[in-house]
Amino acid sequence: MQRNELPEVRGEYKFNFSLKSLSFFKVGGCCDVLFIPADVDDLLQFLSKKPENLEVTILGNMSNVLISDYGISGCVIQLRHLDKIEFYDNYVEVQAGVLLSKFISECAQKGISCCEKLFCIPGSVGGAVCMNAGIPGFEISDVLISVSGISFPGVPKIFLKDELNMAYRNGNIPRDFIVTSAKLKTFAKDNNAILSEIKEIKAKRLKSQPIGQATCGSTFKNPSGTAPQGAKAWELIKRAGCDRLSVGGAKVSEKHCNFLINTGGAKASDFVELIEIIKQKVFEETGYELQEEIKRIGSKW
Ligand SMILES: Cc1cc2nc3c(=O)[nH]c(=O)nc-3n(C[C@H](O)[C@H](O)[C@H](O)COP(=O)(O)OP(=O)(O)OC[C@H]3O[C@@H](n4cnc5c(N)ncnc54)[C@H](O)[C@@H]3O)c2cc1C
Repeated sequence: MQRNELPEVRGEYKFNFSLKSLSFFKVGGCCDVLFIPADVDDLLQFLSKKPENLEVTILGNMSNVLISDYGISGCVIQLRHLDKIEFYDNYVEVQAGVLLSKFISECAQKGISCCEKLFCIPGSVGGAVCMNAGIPGFEISDVLISVSGISFPGVPKIFLKDELNMAYRNGNIPRDFIVTSAKLKTFAKDNNAILSEIKEIKAKRLKSQPIGQATCGSTFKNPSGTAPQGAKAWELIKRAGCDRLSVGGAKVSEKHCNFLINTGGAKASDFVELIEIIKQKVFEETGYELQEEIKRIGSKW
């Protein structure tokens, strides 16, 4: 991929870019080109003028993706410069590249309640909408009004929440749609109350999750009604004796066995092997087929 094959943009292009250091698992190969648009117009220009056969993959903060060791062919787009937040009377329009933690901290300072329950989820707003990020009892769809974005090959579009049919860890965003911003409901709330809620969430997470380690959070979705005795994914993993497993540098976290960690030098293929072993053992022990929450990205595995 050469610079002169791509449209003129105001944002940045990075060629043969290694995604490993950006990905939360600290694994993965290169993409042919990384494009970081300057703003929504720049993204629109790129999509409408890019070569037709150039594959495009959109990534957020890479906190829920397992990137192939062989990398991602074509162009990866990351929206880190789409970082605007506009507050209105009872809603906020927040661009996809804003990190949830930054957005929630800004809301807290202003005494605005929105999705503070999601503090400590290390994703971007775009990734959170796409994954319908949540905790037990709350998910981002609970405050979502609408999602703005661009359909390939460059058509701006708005989806109202009800058009999306969002479900547990599934924003149901069409495959050819890039989320550029989300409109979220807001409520007035005492800022000290929000700040103490955030403090509590931080303390709870530090105790129960391997925070600071190379992980993408929960590997598997919690089962729906069909799991044995309504068990959570971590309970099934433990019951199947998988809570101490490792493959190469990929290991089941001792702090939370639904989290996998890179102990150093893991490859994406180690994680894939470990995931498959866990699925197999859990199925043999409980008859339940675990569903992956993390997304495998890349054309070759
Ligand atoms: C320590 C830790 C704790 C976590 N805890 C939770 C938790 O409690 N609850 C929870 O739900 N998740 C949790 N996660 C997982 C993760 O942070 C969330 O899924 C987050 O929403 C992913 O956002 P991201 O920006 O990193 O997206 P990425 O990981 O980059 O991408 C995730 C998916 O979204 C797509 N995507 C990203 N941006 C866009 C966009 N703008 N337009 C269209 N598609 C897009 C990508 O193609 C990909 O399919 C945790 C992760 C970690 C590391």
